[in-house]
Formats: sequence, structure tokens, C-alpha cells
Amino acid sequence: MRAADIADQLSTVLVTEEEIQAKLLELAQRVDAEYEGKDLLLVGVLKGAVMVMADFARQLTRDITMDWMAVSSYGAGTKSSGVVQIRKDLDTDLHGKHVLIVEDIIDSGLTLSWLLENFQSRGAESIEVLALLRKPDAAKVEIDCRYVGFDIPNEFVVGYGLDYAERYRNLRDVAVLAPHVYS
Ligand code: IMP
Ligand code: MG
Repeated sequence: MRAADIADQLSTVLVTEEEIQAKLLELAQRVDAEYEGKDLLLVGVLKGAVMVMADFARQLTRDITMDWMAVSSYGAGTKSSGVVQIRKDLDTDLHGKHVLIVEDIIDSGLTLSWLLENFQSRGAESIEVLALLRKPDAAKVEIDCRYVGFDIPNEFVVGYGLDYAERYRNLRDVAVLAPHVYS
């Protein structure tokens, strides 16, 4: 569905599907160039990164391997708790691998800072981060994110994988949820 289909539940569209796709192509071209000659493992963070992973990975012009991790730090609310829990671990041994973590959004940064530390301790050769969205004003810890799609205001957004209580993940655009939906 597009933002126009559920306009009554949204307050502002921040990034359109077309803008997302153009940006993912640009990021894929950079990754193609910067990882030339290296084996690359993409690690998607479930469930939010599913859409980013699917579209970004298919824009690459090279072969990669893919794995998934599920962590939770949010519950059903709209504020980060800072408590990270592994719900599904990787199937891959990271030893000696070039790892690119694929994320939907960096909000407080707490999830990624925890993941980065966790992955470093598993002996990865290199670890970088790709995030479609970032909220600079929400940062509680600074994350060195090599590939960022869009910096957005510190508001709760849904769409393109991002949910509110598991809803709106199938929205093709990224939009601010109207306050009446969650208050
Ligand atoms: P963190 O605050 O950077 O740790 O963000 C943790 C996770 O919370 C992200 O990977 C998202 O899945 C989720 N999240 C953060 N901000 C939003 C938002 O605005 N909408 C929906 N989910 C969000
Ligand atoms: Mg996420």
C-alpha cells in the first residue's frame, strides 16, 4: 500500500518509495565498489530490515551471503528501552568475514552499539553498518554508520518495514504516524 491509501492514519510522508529505491541503488553502487574482491556477508536485523535488505541486496551486481538476526529492544511501544535481547541468533560463523549490518533505522543507537560489540567479539574481519534511516536528534550513543539513506526528524515513523505494534510494515513509503493512532 502507498501512503495515499491510508492518509487518515498518517501525518506526514517523509520519504517516498521512489526516493527509497533511488537511494538504495546509490548505496548499492558504493558497496559494490568498496567491497570489490572481498567476500561480503549481509546481516539483516529482523523484522524491520526485511524490506531494505530485499531491495538493497538485489541492487548489488555481485554475489553476497545473507544472514539474519532478531533482537528486540522495543516491545510494542514507541520508545527505546535500551534492553537488547537476542530472539534469533546468526547461523553463520563471523570469523574472518566482512560483515555489513543492514538496518531499517538508527534511533537511540542502543541496538546497534550492542550488536557491533557483540559481532566484534565473534572475530569478524570488518563490520560496517547500512541504515536506511537515522534520527540524529534521538542519538544516545554515536554509531559510526558508513551507509546512511536519510536523516529524519525525531518522530515515530512507520512503513517500509517499520511497524507500530506490527502494523504498517507493508506501507511502501516512510511516514509519521498520526498521533490519534497510538494515543
Ligand atoms: P534504537 O533506538 O536505535 O536502538 O532502535 C531500535 C529499533 O527500534 C530499530 O531497529 C527499529 O526497529 C525500532 N525503531 C526505532 N525508531 C522507530 C520508529 O520511528 N518507528 C518504528 N520503529 C522504530
Ligand atoms: Mg530494527
